[in-house]
Amino acid sequence: MKQDKTLIRTIADFPKPGIQFKDITPLLKNPQGIKDCIELMLPDAHTAVDCVVGIESRGFIMGPLLAQALNCAFVPIRKKGKLPHQTLEQSYDLEYGSATIEIHLDSIKPGDCVLLHDDVLATGGTAAAAIKLIEALGGKVVLCSFIIELVGLKGRDLIQDYPIKFAYQF
Ligand code: AMP
Repeated sequence: MKQDKTLIRTIADFPKPGIQFKDITPLLKNPQGIKDCIELMLPDAHTAVDCVVGIESRGFIMGPLLAQALNCAFVPIRKKGKLPHQTLEQSYDLEYGSATIEIHLDSIKPGDCVLLHDDVLATGGTAAAAIKLIEALGGKVVLCSFIIELVGLKGRDLIQDYPIKFAYQF
């Protein structure tokens, strides 16, 4: 299993001054890099998973690949106003202002074991809001898998009750 950090490109001051943006597009051009990344984010063999929940928008790239590898469903969490059927919504604080995400009411059944996936764990606010949605529908979060954990932002502290896997740490 290989972690090739050159596949993650850091773009300074994007999308605004002070942000060190982690660009995964070099990783996406590398089929072996994608395979290795998926392996590193998968749960242990004994962990049952009924569905992978991916967060818009970069959680939609590896999320379905994780679901394929686990032979289970993929469920999208989207920004407010994008999902067409009945939804449950959750708002959370951003550095400036707030955001709202939604999930379809019929996407998860009570008792379902869920793998939550996003590209980057930064402050953890997005993942924590997604967990609230999953649990409100009766789902059980068995693993949170990220391509990248930004250790210095301490996102882990917000989701400390849940196991975490990542392919890269910065
Ligand atoms: P947070 O809620 O702070 O953990 O932020 C996580 C979300 O913001 C993820 O969906 C990421 O796509 C995005 N994000 C936050 N920080 C970065 C970063 N430095 N580089 C790329 N994406 C980021």
